[in-house]
Amino acid sequence: MVTYKDLANYIFSDVVDTIEDLEKKYPPRNLVQNAEVTRFAPSPTGFLHLGSLFMSLIAKKMAFDTNGVFYIRLEDTDTKREIEGSGKQLIDQLDHFGIIPDEGYLGDKEKGDYGPYQQSNRAYIYRVCIKHLMEIGRAYPCFCSHEQIEEIRQVQMAMKVVPGYYGEYAMCRNIEPEEALRRIKSGEKYVIRFRSLGNHNNKVTFHDEIRGDISIAENDLDVVILKGDGLPTYHFAHAVDDHFMHTTTVLRGEEWIASAPIHLELFNALGFALPKYAHAPVIMKLDNGNRRKLSKRKDPEASVAHFIEQGFPKEALKCYLMSIANSNFEEWTEVNHCFDIDKFKFSLSKMSLDGVLFDQDKLNYFSKEIIASFTASELYHRLVAWSKEYDEVLYNHIADKEEFTTAILNIERGGEKARKDYVAYSDVYPIIGFFFRDRYDEITKDGYPFNPAIDKEIIKAVLSDFKTTNDYSLPNDLWFQNVKSLGVKHNFAESNKIYKQNKDAYHGHVGDVAEIIRISLVGAKNSPNLYNILQILGKDEVNSRIDKVIDYLSK
Ligand code: GLU
Repeated sequence: MVTYKDLANYIFSDVVDTIEDLEKKYPPRNLVQNAEVTRFAPSPTGFLHLGSLFMSLIAKKMAFDTNGVFYIRLEDTDTKREIEGSGKQLIDQLDHFGIIPDEGYLGDKEKGDYGPYQQSNRAYIYRVCIKHLMEIGRAYPCFCSHEQIEEIRQVQMAMKVVPGYYGEYAMCRNIEPEEALRRIKSGEKYVIRFRSLGNHNNKVTFHDEIRGDISIAENDLDVVILKGDGLPTYHFAHAVDDHFMHTTTVLRGEEWIASAPIHLELFNALGFALPKYAHAPVIMKLDNGNRRKLSKRKDPEASVAHFIEQGFPKEALKCYLMSIANSNFEEWTEVNHCFDIDKFKFSLSKMSLDGVLFDQDKLNYFSKEIIASFTASELYHRLVAWSKEYDEVLYNHIADKEEFTTAILNIERGGEKARKDYVAYSDVYPIIGFFFRDRYDEITKDGYPFNPAIDKEIIKAVLSDFKTTNDYSLPNDLWFQNVKSLGVKHNFAESNKIYKQNKDAYHGHVGDVAEIIRISLVGAKNSPNLYNILQILGKDEVNSRIDKVIDYLSK
């Protein structure tokens, strides 16, 4: 008589190890008590999704906070969905955010004693485990074609019963090992399924680190564990890998809650202790009043690359995601004037349970604050690195002008009243571009937005006078006194208040004088601090711009 053991020996004739051998090869980790071993387990199916960055950030943080280990495992068993090169790209993007694993898959190599960390290289390990399940009668070959599976589904729909491959609908579960062996030997195609002992009328309860106890229908599906291509499904690979890699907390998206009963039964059947589970909320978007998951296809903000291209500092995205993870984080940054998430005490139990809406305003807020917190020199170096990749125009202007650009970026930087006008690096050039002569010429090619109520001749007179009398050595307050005096000389009131008392007596007030100078140098009514602009442009450039304005007004 052919037994399941014989069947297992035939199918897995290459397998010489047992689960015990694997336990010896991958012994418990030598870590301090309560250290968390966490992982990010992406499938190489495209770009780094914002939700994946969220998950990996938290996983890394949990390991960091507990002196544990954070590793990356590439889940590449779904070869049909795989996009060539995306595994390496994911690693590079995580690297950009400083999410560097302690061990695991690193793109072109790997590091650590618990590998391989790429599932397609772990086929043998899965075979050892499936062989064991088959020997104890908990795994069996299934010969059903796609068409047969579809037929079963149709019958189930007609009968209004729960769809799936289970119980009486699991056509191959009662095939005798002898017949199975004969069919395999004759070359029939097959997959291997798990034999569930569950009943979906029963409830199973497991603890979720974020949500508390979850009660859910027991698994009764005979899920596929080994596909026809020799690779396992997610369900099986998850149980085996998280066991032998000694993951302490499986942090993954809430979409996996529904499959958790399968995983509980698999861990049980394999004799493995269950890890802790934490199912994190997904990031959603409002679409015509409805909440939906951020979509890879429809939403540019689903892709982390989008934010890198726009020039959001990596810290901004990390802080934003941490504020989703723990709602007290934002207040913590305010109280501590700190955006370093490493210093924040993160807690899984403070995580929101429901899908969170993507909030661009919140991201912008963090980004503004963080860019404002950089020193001018730091911002300069970041702008050079960013523009080299994403903004040729900016790069060509600033790459070899470190001192000049840093002085510009230093205007109103730091202190209580720091300027916070850059949401992203892409905002910088539109704001500071006028400092560069070619950009200034471009901005002013069609004229200057002077107040039409002030006569051209008066503007020219003020500018000519300013040109010869401006004293670049004065500090800001004294310099401004001089601007006032210049105005008074040309019949502008010393203040708005005085002007308002007798408007007819003046051409305007000191603010109008400053505006004339500003528009002449900037080509626009708004700009950073005028005094700083004069200091940075210097006398020669200021006078050259003023000459240009006077020329223009004389035409
Ligand atoms: N490869 C799975 C995914 O991309 C990972 C789920 C998990 O972290 O266990 O959704």
